[in-house]
Amino acid sequence: MAKDSQTKKISAFVVETEWEGVKVEHRCHFMGLRALANAVISFTHVRVPRENLIGQEGKGLKIALTTLNDGRLSIPNGSVGAAKRALSICRTWASERVQWGKPVGKHEAIAHKIADMAANTFAMESIARLTTSMSTQGNFDIRLEAAACKLWNSTRGWEIVDDVMQIRGGRGYETEISLAARGEEPVNAERMMRDYRINRIFEGSDEIMHLFMAREAVDKHLQVAGAMIDPSVSLAQRLGTLPRIVVFYAWWYPTRWLGWGRWPRYSGFGRFARHLRFVDRSSRKLARQIFHGMLMHQAKLQHKQAFLFRIVDIADELFVMTATVSRARMMAEAGLPEAEKAAKVADLFCRNATRKVRKLFHDLWANDDVGKYRVALGVLEGDQVWMEQLLEGLPATASQKRAKLATA
Ligand SMILES: Cc1cc2nc3c(=O)[nH]c(=O)nc-3n(C[C@H](O)[C@H](O)[C@H](O)COP(=O)(O)OP(=O)(O)OC[C@H]3O[C@@H](n4cnc5c(N)ncnc54)[C@H](O)[C@@H]3O)c2cc1C
Repeated sequence: MAKDSQTKKISAFVVETEWEGVKVEHRCHFMGLRALANAVISFTHVRVPRENLIGQEGKGLKIALTTLNDGRLSIPNGSVGAAKRALSICRTWASERVQWGKPVGKHEAIAHKIADMAANTFAMESIARLTTSMSTQGNFDIRLEAAACKLWNSTRGWEIVDDVMQIRGGRGYETEISLAARGEEPVNAERMMRDYRINRIFEGSDEIMHLFMAREAVDKHLQVAGAMIDPSVSLAQRLGTLPRIVVFYAWWYPTRWLGWGRWPRYSGFGRFARHLRFVDRSSRKLARQIFHGMLMHQAKLQHKQAFLFRIVDIADELFVMTATVSRARMMAEAGLPEAEKAAKVADLFCRNATRKVRKLFHDLWANDDVGKYRVALGVLEGDQVWMEQLLEGLPATASQKRAKLATA
């Protein structure tokens, strides 16, 4: 991609590394994904033939943003693959490995990990299937769903990979080559960990996905009442927007309280009805909390990332609950032989998610966000450097470390 210095528009095109003026300055090496050929590349007076243009000239940014939504879905789908492999590894190992007189999988601590792994894998696949099918149909705006799916699956996938390492014990940390050399099954938990971690960083990091979704969550309020919290807007202008705001919220706010999210709603969903009722009630509660957050923090809300991230996490859990219940019900309606088994893990997932959502709602208003931020500022300003210097014999700071490396 490059920006035209005159029109300031971005265009996308293909450049071949053999061309004159293209130089691979440095080939990057990563802890995992070792087949990648990312590099620092310099371009000096490179001439690009017109036929190498992708799409229309000046439309590069639009192409990038549009393809990003679909491209982003490769991560949550890949995460499902990793989770399935992890489940298979853990099921086998936790049944075979005996400690303290029984298979490790039958000790409650490990059993619970395995149950959550199965429940989360089912949920991950449900949300990936739903979002991918929306993308394939082509008539949905999937920006939010793709971001939610990417964020949720990459995070749960990482937790699952971490659990594989824990459940495999010392063998989890051992490379597959070493395992094979001593006659053990070459399970690649170590490699999974190295390869998987990047999923929470590229194609939109955890933090950027949260911010992107948070912006959408407050967008309607900013459209309607943005002027009231914008310090650059004059008092007269604010008063001018007041009637429109009053009309909007006179309808909007009460309807976030009204609505029936209890029995007999969703009764057709059988054992899942209670979970959908919870999603229904929590969605309205979430809308109210976003509004309360705007009233409380006003223009500062954009900097209240802890508050905004919790909002996004609640929305994400509710979305995944819905996808999970829908898939379990679809499997039952289709008469699939696995439907009853799927229902068990879907139910467990929803119970876990309900607890998580309740805690997140609680933490919205009872937290240490301000104090924690102050401590972080202190750390950044060097308040706690004394603690780093306690590492006797090791370079205390990054600059000392660099100096040591330079002289080595
Ligand atoms: C193996 C690998 C392959 C890659 N492949 C590609 C590729 O094919 N194409 C491509 O374009 N890029 C690629 N990248 C780059 C990748 O997309 C970026 O590394 C990633 O988007 C994060 O950007 P950054 O490294 O600049 O981190 P930074 O932006 O420097 O962020 C550092 C940290 O701060 C957080 N952060 C940043 N801004 C905020 C904020 N406003 N609020 C809160 N937290 C914030 C980030 O989430 C991150 O945790 C690749 C990277 C790697 C490691």
